Amino acid sequence: MPLEFSERVRRIPVYPAASAYALPEDVALLASNESPDPPLPEVVEAVTKILSGVNRYPDPTNAKLRAALSDRYGVPASRIAIGNGSCDILLAAGEALLEPGAELIYAWPSFSVYPHLAAASGARALEVPVDDRHLHDLEAMATEITAATRLVLVCNPNNPTSTALPLAEITAFVEQVPRHVCVILDEAYCEFNTLDDPDASLDLLTRHPNLVLLRTFSKVHGLCGLRAGYALCGSDEFVTAVNQVRQPFFCNAAAQAAAIEALKHTDAVHARVERTIVARLEMEDGLNELGIQPAESQANFCWFDLPGGADSEAAIVDALAQRGVLVRAGGALGRPGALRVTYGTPAQNARFLDALRDLL
Ligand SMILES: *Cc1c(COP(=O)(O)O)cnc(C)c1O
Repeated sequence: MPLEFSERVRRIPVYPAASAYALPEDVALLASNESPDPPLPEVVEAVTKILSGVNRYPDPTNAKLRAALSDRYGVPASRIAIGNGSCDILLAAGEALLEPGAELIYAWPSFSVYPHLAAASGARALEVPVDDRHLHDLEAMATEITAATRLVLVCNPNNPTSTALPLAEITAFVEQVPRHVCVILDEAYCEFNTLDDPDASLDLLTRHPNLVLLRTFSKVHGLCGLRAGYALCGSDEFVTAVNQVRQPFFCNAAAQAAAIEALKHTDAVHARVERTIVARLEMEDGLNELGIQPAESQANFCWFDLPGGADSEAAIVDALAQRGVLVRAGGALGRPGALRVTYGTPAQNARFLDALRDLL
């Protein structure tokens, strides 16, 4: 007889892992929005140095990392939460804010982790479809707010659709949300967004104590293998709550050291963003040549419908994998027949476009 699991576990969706890990070395990994660039040598050095001390627990208060983030963003350290990746903070927020009878609101398709929050807590999820340009419909989201709402998630730029809303629209939305409802603005890709300065949203924190800006070292900083994320908050109550529901040493010593070092290298971040924008234009051109119009990307990946629709999705994804290119199928992300493709190196992008041309 198999094990009998809780209803909670039976509710939680299982997200398919990109099956890259059994494939040959030269596969183009374009399925998980990772950086194609290896970590900076200074970051590798900082991590190496910390390893000789790992007989000790890491700093449970993440004091140095929070101080570095506070210096960088001008947010008091008491309003900064750290996580084992930003998903850790997201899940902790779900645990701290949600329960049966409570509601959360997010757009769909959006980040695959959001449905997990409702499933894990028993809260009700209101999924508001993105509009025909794949943008959050903030007006429709605002009308879903009720007395039961505890949490609203806005992903900007949005994963998997790659699109972003101007900050002015987000600002107008946040102003409509009642004080007791937490708004998490998930900005995992904000550095790649050319619509607004990535730091412009920080201003909102001074006016909205219920706002949380969720950010990560996984994407532009390229440290997803170590797991470090953070939340910049409008008040310290969110920080206290997410720390209450987690194990004490949620961010390991190597991740803390790497993140502190990564923050010093803003030039490297700018260079990566510039390369990403070049890749964005090349991929857009390449897709246009195949008769495909991707969504307007403000991220490090593109999102588009396959000409053959949902029926062709599995075959195309498999055939791309056989040609050494791993991408993410839209079916698992809320839009069957779509593909999400991370921008890789110029060679990997060319390989993807060549393979897709072949298959179409
Ligand atoms: C990648 C991503 C994150 C970051 O996850 P980590 O746990 O920090 O690696 C958060 N939100 C979105 C929308 C993402 O795509």
